[in-house]
Amino acid sequence: MVRPNPEQLTRLESLRDGVVQQMERLGIFSELQLATATKVSLGLLRKNSTQRHGVTRWTRNGNEIILETVDLHPVLLEEIWTSYASFVMYHELLHAIGFRSHDKSFRELESLWPDFRSAKRGLDFTNQMRLKRARWIWKCPQCDKEFPRQRPSRGKYQCRACGCRLHDVPCRT
Ligand SMILES: [Zn+2]
Ligand SMILES: [Zn+2]
Repeated sequence: MVRPNPEQLTRLESLRDGVVQQMERLGIFSELQLATATKVSLGLLRKNSTQRHGVTRWTRNGNEIILETVDLHPVLLEEIWTSYASFVMYHELLHAIGFRSHDKSFRELESLWPDFRSAKRGLDFTNQMRLKRARWIWKCPQCDKEFPRQRPSRGKYQCRACGCRLHDVPCRT
């Protein structure tokens, strides 16, 4: 994990507090679960992470598995991502309070998040992060869809929308 600066930590804590309040309102979590969510230490992912937006980390002590941190992508702390950041925080806090795998009961709890539409912003976020780091745009000659990537596609990939082979266009820097 990357240690947040004081300003980032304040932001992480206020996101977490908002999410825990919302979890209380749902009325399905125990005192212990809410206390765990309130106490977990918060950190950041590396900013070059594109696919991972949050992670819950555990350490092992003999047979015991101990909750370590919940880390969020640092760009999620920017104002425009607030609604998605809250959703990612909720997702990670569900892990933190004991729902460790993405099974059916996890997905059910996840879908109780009141602003569930914000969950759909994940793909946007991934694309924004890729765009920032992109050296190449894989471009569809047919429908003009663009896929920002760090490596050239070298003719190996097809457009998701229309199946055409993608072309490599270098990014101007
Ligand atoms: Zn997860
Ligand atoms: Zn296409």
